Amino acid sequence: MTATPMLQLDGLKKAYRGKSALRGLDLTVNDNEIFALLGPTGAGKSSTLLAGAGLIDLDAGRVRLGGRDVTDADPASRDVAIVFEGFNLLPVLDVKDNIAFALRSPEFREEEDEIGRRVGRTAELLRISHLLDRDVGTLSGGERQRVAIARALVRRPVMFLLDEPLSALDLKLREGLRAELRQIHRQYRSTMLYATHDYHGAIAIADRIGIIDGGVIQQSGSIEDIYSRPANMLVGKLIGSPSMAFFEARLEDGHVVVKGAAQRLPVSEFGSVASSGGQVVLGVWPEDIEVGEPDVAGASKGKIYAVDNRGFERAIQVETTAGSFRKVVPLSMPFAQGDACSFRIPAGAGFLFDPASGRRISQDGEGAN
Ligand code: ADP
Ligand code: MG
Repeated sequence: MTATPMLQLDGLKKAYRGKSALRGLDLTVNDNEIFALLGPTGAGKSSTLLAGAGLIDLDAGRVRLGGRDVTDADPASRDVAIVFEGFNLLPVLDVKDNIAFALRSPEFREEEDEIGRRVGRTAELLRISHLLDRDVGTLSGGERQRVAIARALVRRPVMFLLDEPLSALDLKLREGLRAELRQIHRQYRSTMLYATHDYHGAIAIADRIGIIDGGVIQQSGSIEDIYSRPANMLVGKLIGSPSMAFFEARLEDGHVVVKGAAQRLPVSEFGSVASSGGQVVLGVWPEDIEVGEPDVAGASKGKIYAVDNRGFERAIQVETTAGSFRKVVPLSMPFAQGDACSFRIPAGAGFLFDPASGRRISQDGEGAN
């Protein structure tokens, strides 16, 4: 199946009062996909969405929508719907008129009975039919966000730009609405660009994700792609739960020697490595690290710094001479704070990064990017 691009952002640059928010951002969202833009606060997520909607003036770059260059087109002509994190509802109107609002604008002028039908259908889909006559001021946060989504959806835009639409809601509401967004996506085959700082939310909803930080996309692809070929240390820090473990190490005599640790890993296990000596950072997904009783032959020593009970499992933080890492372990592993432990990195697990640039320098043979 070949993917058709819906939204293409090329080289976007934007500074607010001399401070860069977007620094040459490239991103392609394909037709019919849910693409999550994952990054911390200040990464440039909102600016990216606003650029897609035509709501900010760019300093450089092009925006294409469905193959058409819309960089200089006004927002109303773009037929995209944006939903913000604060619920962008009009407090003076009731729910019904809030949802109908976009259909009554000059660009989307519809007959009143058609408007009524569409509002009714959309309200049913989002389970807010019983709220149609209420003032938005009387609604709960979850109800308001449903109305905000209904308001965007009713227009059947070619694309949704969702800016942390669920972040203000509690966990249960968030999971419920996320499932509904997926349902809407299936039903209308609409394209969604979903900005979030929540790793779990991103992987739960998205077909592909883009990791954004510092106003550029650090990497994009399926979560499997990114796991198997993280482009740089920033990506490792921003995905996974817990995120990637980093160890200080050096390359010596064909081995990766982890600082102060017993284990020496043959460099050949890392595929081709674009460096022959010196300091490196060894990054490993915590799931791959074997943690066990102290004094396991050939394993390195660590110490349990903290234990965080999570009901069915525990998250432990392990201190080592080369750095600390967090990992989830089953309750059957009887770790307590202050215990000694061992850790081992199995053959073939892990990536090498350049400590100065953060870029991955080990290549897994398949030769990704
Ligand atoms: P995110 O949505 O990922 O938090 P934003 O796109 O909102 O990121 O912001 C990116 C950077 O631009 C941040 O440093 C933010 O403080 C700054 N910024 C965003 N909007 C404005 C604005 N209207 N005026 C000044 N600075 C802004
Ligand atoms: Mg934002």
